[in-house]
Amino acid sequence: SLRGKVALVTGSTSGIGLGIARALAAQGADIMLNGFGDTAKIEDLRASLGGEFGVRVAFDGADLTRPAEIRRLVTRAEADLGSIDILVNNAGIQHVAPVEDFPDEKWDAIIALNLSAVFHAMKSAVPLMRRRGWGRIVNIASAHGLVASGQKIAYVAAKHGVVGATKTVAIECANDGITVNAICPGWVLTPLVEAQIEARAASNRTTVQDEAKALLAEKQPMLEFTTPGKIGAFVAFLCSEAASTVTGAALSIDGGWVAH
Ligand code: NAD
Repeated sequence: SLRGKVALVTGSTSGIGLGIARALAAQGADIMLNGFGDTAKIEDLRASLGGEFGVRVAFDGADLTRPAEIRRLVTRAEADLGSIDILVNNAGIQHVAPVEDFPDEKWDAIIALNLSAVFHAMKSAVPLMRRRGWGRIVNIASAHGLVASGQKIAYVAAKHGVVGATKTVAIECANDGITVNAICPGWVLTPLVEAQIEARAASNRTTVQDEAKALLAEKQPMLEFTTPGKIGAFVAFLCSEAASTVTGAALSIDGGWVAH
């Protein structure tokens, strides 16, 4: 059980991050939620998660493209909930375009959120974990942390960077009771992927159902989406005692994507 532990899950108002927050709350962890979205909906989410699992749940809408806000978020999580024992760096964005058309501002935004925020959050949280002699850091990378696809230069570069940063901090913390791992999902049906499917359907004049099938068929031998709940269960395992010697790993949950 994770009762008494505090987990900060970035980008947890939607998709995979929400699945992770639910899975950790189900194990008894108190949760600091983060992300963007409608204020009233987020408050409903915060209250219902706490009520359902009998844990404390706080929310902070820090914009993680800003390093000062990341530092403030970590400080606030510790002040409001008492510690940060588990850090899940999950917030991420995507943009799809060939390199010659890739907008500079999209490159900067994706590197800032998908890579630099992971650095800043680990930098702030590691000293707190060291002080307690226990910590779990899980970085949500991607199959694109291990292999590339065309038209995703910023995302692929950032996710490869996350895998490297994960290995580095794992080595630095190897004897401090802190494990640091990356999870590398294949396709998960979330708003981030729905936007890509809808864009394909519009440009190919097909249906979203056809494009969802085509998207899977191009990359994943197993023609099935992973769910946010299954990513959450994977994170919960990495936070468990059984996983105490799993560190510095880039762990695939991708329907065979990188085996292909
Ligand atoms: P999503 O769009 O459903 O959720 C993204 C979350 O990040 C939301 O809560 C959003 O509010 C938050 N966010 C966006 N910009 C932010 C900012 N500047 N500061 C703070 N929070 C911000 O996407 P998702 O599919 O759940 O993706 C979550 C993570 O999983 C990402 O890192 C993504 O790269 C990774 N991933 C997704 C898939 C997939 O198939 N969906 C596959 C592999 C990896």
